[in-house]
Amino acid sequence: MRLSRYFMPILKENPKEAEIVSHRLMLRTGMIKQQSQGIYSWLPLGKRVLDKVNAIIREEQNRSGAIELSMPTLQSAELWQESGRYDAYGKEMLRIKDRQERPMLYGPTNEEMVTDIFRSYVKSYKNLPLNLYHIQLKFRDEIRPRFGTMRSREFMMKDAYSFDLNKEDAVHSYNKMFAAYLRTFDRLGLRAIPMRADTGPIGGNHSHEFIILAETGESEVFSHRDFVNFDIPAADVDFDDVAGMQAIFDKWTSVYAATSEMHDEAAFDAIPESDRLSARGIEVGHIFYFGTKYSEPMGAKVQGPDGKEHLVHMGSYGIGPTRLVPAIIEASHDENGIIWPASVAPFDVVVINMKPGDEACDRISEGLYGDLGKAGKDVLYDDTDDRAGTKFATADLIGVPVQVIVGPRSAANGEVEVKDRKTGAREVMTVEAAMNRIT
Ligand code: ATP
Ligand code: MG
Ligand code: MG
Ligand code: MG
Repeated sequence: MRLSRYFMPILKENPKEAEIVSHRLMLRTGMIKQQSQGIYSWLPLGKRVLDKVNAIIREEQNRSGAIELSMPTLQSAELWQESGRYDAYGKEMLRIKDRQERPMLYGPTNEEMVTDIFRSYVKSYKNLPLNLYHIQLKFRDEIRPRFGTMRSREFMMKDAYSFDLNKEDAVHSYNKMFAAYLRTFDRLGLRAIPMRADTGPIGGNHSHEFIILAETGESEVFSHRDFVNFDIPAADVDFDDVAGMQAIFDKWTSVYAATSEMHDEAAFDAIPESDRLSARGIEVGHIFYFGTKYSEPMGAKVQGPDGKEHLVHMGSYGIGPTRLVPAIIEASHDENGIIWPASVAPFDVVVINMKPGDEACDRISEGLYGDLGKAGKDVLYDDTDDRAGTKFATADLIGVPVQVIVGPRSAANGEVEVKDRKTGAREVMTVEAAMNRIT
């Protein structure tokens, strides 16, 4: 992408309305634009990051055996009347009437709709287990939308729904998602801690919020420090291995971790003081086993091996991609701007032509732009006439992991400077060495 032809509206001033660093940086870099309270456009730079986050989520969902579909944002109220949630949901639900005066709503979540899909087609235990997911916009009329896309009213969610014959199988489905979430957040460059969450009337140990630690987080969290050193399941982990999945779950739930709602002061105090971590956190995912809560009122049943009809046991599993993007920034920035983990960076490398019009600068920059692209890299090419200081500041601000600086003096010798955004380390090398370093 040539910067001169791109759409990346960088703001010179720090936006006053932004209270936290991620919101400030997302506005300054032109990643997002607020359209009305809690409703955002994702501008091209932001869209690139969001797409990369979603691609990782999708890969890990697929790896665990979940199957992608797409459900609509607008739903009929009827489904929610069946489950009893239409009246219970309250003011967070945006209710709409169509021209025939039929009550509709903008989905805040999809348990009812996916249960309706399930009951329409699946009649036998032989088709289980099944886990269906989509990545779709949701709407919740939050009482206090704030911090940009961290808590917005329209937001994106990856929501998966598992269906099993009985509780035992459902727990395996839960453990698979648990492992998939550990992998997902790790690939996003985050250390997320699964914390016990309230299961309501169902009880048990099968609801976890995945929380990343950040000073600006809205949740108050208490945990053991050991989480920092726990291993992430490998890419070739066997999701069908029931005992193996249970072992991962057991390991990651073996030490104390809870949000303030579930906090047990006595259990926390039993941890040696130096291992206690009391901090603030951001909820980036939430998984839940809820048994027959929806299958019962909505009549989602399958025939079991015994020939009888059984209500299916369900779970739901959410991740918030539009919250994850600012969460990653909260975890990874410095005074000059964003520092993207390579896995989600909007571009892999930025080639900065310090003197467009200079024969050597143009030849080397254009060559690198073409060759890095051919090598499969996402390249931003700063071919603008901006001053050197502006170019450097922009490259740092938008946080592309590697910068290749092509200045007239070194270009004359066939050399460029390669800068690592994270460490700030700079090194002069030949064009060929730079290519080898980056690809
Ligand atoms: P919160 O406690 O922050 O209000 P929640 O518990 O209501 O979130 P869930 O119903 O568990 O959210 O939804 C699953 C995921 O969707 C959350 O873990 C979060 O990542 C994301 N999410 C929920 N609400 C929002 C929002 N208003 N803006 C952005 N992402 C959200
Ligand atoms: Mg909420
Ligand atoms: Mg919550
Ligand atoms: Mg939640």
